[in-house]
Amino acid sequence: MKTEKKLLVLPGDGIGPEVTAQAINLLKWVENHSNLSFKIDEDLVGGASIDQHGIPLTDTVIEKAKQADAVLFGAVGGPKWDKVGFDKRPELGIIGLRKEMGLFANLRAATVFDPLIDASTVKPDIIKGLDLMIVRESTGGVYFGSPRGIENLPDGTRKGINTEVYTSVEIERIARVAFDLARQRKNKVCSVDKSNVMESGLLWKEVVTEIQKRDYPDVELSHMLADNCAMQLVRRPLQFDIILTSNLFGDILSDLAAMLTGSLGMLPSATLGKRGDNGVIPALYEPIHGSAPDIAGQNKANPLAQILSLAMLLRYSFGEDVVAAKIIDACKQVLVNGLRTPDIMGPGKKLVGTSEMGQAVLEELNNQ
Ligand code: NAD
Repeated sequence: MKTEKKLLVLPGDGIGPEVTAQAINLLKWVENHSNLSFKIDEDLVGGASIDQHGIPLTDTVIEKAKQADAVLFGAVGGPKWDKVGFDKRPELGIIGLRKEMGLFANLRAATVFDPLIDASTVKPDIIKGLDLMIVRESTGGVYFGSPRGIENLPDGTRKGINTEVYTSVEIERIARVAFDLARQRKNKVCSVDKSNVMESGLLWKEVVTEIQKRDYPDVELSHMLADNCAMQLVRRPLQFDIILTSNLFGDILSDLAAMLTGSLGMLPSATLGKRGDNGVIPALYEPIHGSAPDIAGQNKANPLAQILSLAMLLRYSFGEDVVAAKIIDACKQVLVNGLRTPDIMGPGKKLVGTSEMGQAVLEELNNQ
């Protein structure tokens, strides 16, 4: 007996539709190799939605996203919509969805595939086998805290203010995401803060420690200061499995971790919310790259980040570890076979386009 899952697909703009099509192409294979069947609904978001409806995110799409078991998102934005006005820009498509779906946990993987080890600027022996995940709180902290703003002072100078605010509830819910995830990985969480100089960091550390002691004693927890973590990510990144951190530190550390891998077109991400009464955790999966207008429509985009986003979706939203692992293995194998899109091309490798790369992954899956 198959379990039907509602999947909302929002390809978006630029290379979004091209890479998303390659992920969708694998769903028949997934259905044939799991207990899942998919009810797929596709809709417009970002610039594509502006062209059709005048706004980047319609109420219909918001409602569909809330009803879906998971959302697969491409990318939004591009020069075509530069003049639409700040309050209508395509990027509000993704920002609005995160808000409406209550997505507070951003998960970014940084994985180094052996055949691409030379794409990194870091020495191969430091990053060989790297497979870490940054769990970043994404709706609180200094980007949203008040008071905020720029004030004119009586002496004619000005003052810029932002406030780092975290409640114990916000810290607890993101900590739980990291600990739950750890149980599906290597059971290891490193919580990162600045508890030496920030009260919000002190509370962060206290709450994370408390939750681990009470509800996740089986998960190994360590703590690290954010500045040290930046250094350790470059010095000895293999020590990490899951890094749990706040909005600000996560923003910086996840870009640092992404660059350890050296290839933007290879990295998937997820944003998760709180489990609803129906038992479903709202979740949106997307590659970390943008709409790459410079190569859009040319069959040059690397579809692997989006295909790996689908693998993440199958694993974290639908518990399909085996098919997810097979998809990741197939991506590795096409690279071992020497296939490369232009962004990861190297000497002696075979240059392929977006659709050939997607097709090659499907063929690998069929051959397994
Ligand atoms: P980008 O990630 O789109 O592109 C940066 C560079 O990486 C470009 O040279 C591009 O060609 C290359 N690149 C990106 N993805 C690739 C892939 N899969 N294969 C091969 N090469 C790839 O970032 P940008 O140029 O700063 O932004 C372009 C647009 O995307 C902007 O409108 C921006 O706002 C938007 N954006 C959207 C999202 C999102 O939808 N979540 C995220 C980031 C940027």
